[in-house]
Amino acid sequence: MGGGISGLAAAYELQARKVRHVVLERAPRVGGVIRTDQVDGFTLDGGPDALLVQKPAAVELCRELGLGDRLVPTLPPRTAFVLRAGRLHPLPAHSVLGIPTRVRPLAATRLLSAAGRIRMAADLVLPAGAPGARGDESVASFFARRFGQETVDYIAEPLLAGIHAGHVERLSIRALFPRLVEAERTHGSIIRALAARRRRAPAPGGPFRSLRGGVGELVMALAGRLAPDVLRTGAGVREIRGRAPYRLLLDTGASVTAGQVVLAVPGPAVAALLRPLDPELAEQCGSIPHTSTATVALGYPRDAIGHDLRGTGFVVPRVERGVSVMAGTWVSSKWPGRAPPGQALLRGFVGGARDGSALDRTDAELVAAVHRDFTQLLDISGTPSLARVYRWPGLNPQYEVGHLERLAAIDAGLERLPGVQITGAGFRGVGIPDCIAAGRAAGAAASRAA
Ligand SMILES: Cc1cc2nc3c(=O)[nH]c(=O)nc-3n(C[C@H](O)[C@H](O)[C@H](O)COP(=O)(O)OP(=O)(O)OC[C@H]3O[C@@H](n4cnc5c(N)ncnc54)[C@H](O)[C@@H]3O)c2cc1C
Repeated sequence: MGGGISGLAAAYELQARKVRHVVLERAPRVGGVIRTDQVDGFTLDGGPDALLVQKPAAVELCRELGLGDRLVPTLPPRTAFVLRAGRLHPLPAHSVLGIPTRVRPLAATRLLSAAGRIRMAADLVLPAGAPGARGDESVASFFARRFGQETVDYIAEPLLAGIHAGHVERLSIRALFPRLVEAERTHGSIIRALAARRRRAPAPGGPFRSLRGGVGELVMALAGRLAPDVLRTGAGVREIRGRAPYRLLLDTGASVTAGQVVLAVPGPAVAALLRPLDPELAEQCGSIPHTSTATVALGYPRDAIGHDLRGTGFVVPRVERGVSVMAGTWVSSKWPGRAPPGQALLRGFVGGARDGSALDRTDAELVAAVHRDFTQLLDISGTPSLARVYRWPGLNPQYEVGHLERLAAIDAGLERLPGVQITGAGFRGVGIPDCIAAGRAAGAAASRAA
């Protein structure tokens, strides 16, 4: 169930193992939050635009599907900026997750005050928390402990919590950034650990890739590999009945009988479908919070933008007042070929934990708010030549402190439901590589049990 990247990855695996299967997708199209549109010469990614190389499942799948020569790195310079006091400050060069891996760029940055820089550098000498002594903690607590509060406000909140559109005080460092936890355990200093890693495994071309025609190419290629009668769009599952074999009642009134079911739908939908079968398990799945976001794509004549757009974009800390966007991407400076000649493509992110009512606004209001912010921050004159809004209501899962224990409880609950697999962004990783890896694993597990 679910024809997002997680469900398609599960189906791909079932097909490879020659297990008969169907994909039941409620929407008229597959891809879920992955959506690329070609409009007036612009390539618009409405949801995700980047594949993280360090987690190889996504780029590997692209290569398996024959898309290897479609992969493109971000354009240099790959600088990301942070808004502070009305000015965009570059993150220190050679940063990983906003954490500098060299002392000189940290010493030189004006993103942090002098006291803030000294406090961040204290990570180099602070001892590690005793291994095992700390349970889970929030991203804010981890950063405050290692680097000081100023880095919570100007790095962790806008960048790390920002990726997840969540609360820095609630998101789990263990579930979301285990390599930082590991870095503290192995090296004491996070800066030292990340620097050593960079030396060992440099990332030529930067940490991200996209596809020439947008991330939607991955979904098209994956869907194109499945047998034509496998994908059923407009086939939402309303209810699951019985025990293996399960009877799936569709919105259309039809039903499907299946020995194994892979739930690759968002967490709240998993909870609704499992409630009649196992209320306790449904409760666990339904207790993972979700926030809502929208992305607003705006095209402008390049010469209407005063800013040089040399970089990938910027993030806006919550503590900076009077700005609607959480982040802005300079899409046509980040990726090649995203705007027609003479035009630039920008994208604003709104909503998330900090602005829960953003999606109550009309498209025109969202466009006006993002245009106003961009005009002010990027010195734009005139109006957009293209505007498009993409809404993602309740589709940003929040892995809060304790998420891994909740997952363990979900796994234990699944023992009571033979033939049911749960996958998807709400559970074992939000990023596309995690969704692919978990989706494929769920497909493989279903095929073994079939
Ligand atoms: C704005 C945004 C930007 C992002 N940027 C990035 C990025 O740059 N890089 C990255 O790696 N990740 C990014 N992510 C995260 C990543 O894109 C998602 O986590 C991932 O694509 C989710 O895939 P999924 O298949 O698990 O879920 P979804 O894409 O949500 O798919 C679930 C599918 O289930 C269907 N469905 C729901 N209920 C039913 C039902 N009852 N019956 C049948 N079908 C049903 C839905 O219609 C949907 O198609 C971003 C996410 C968002 C929202």
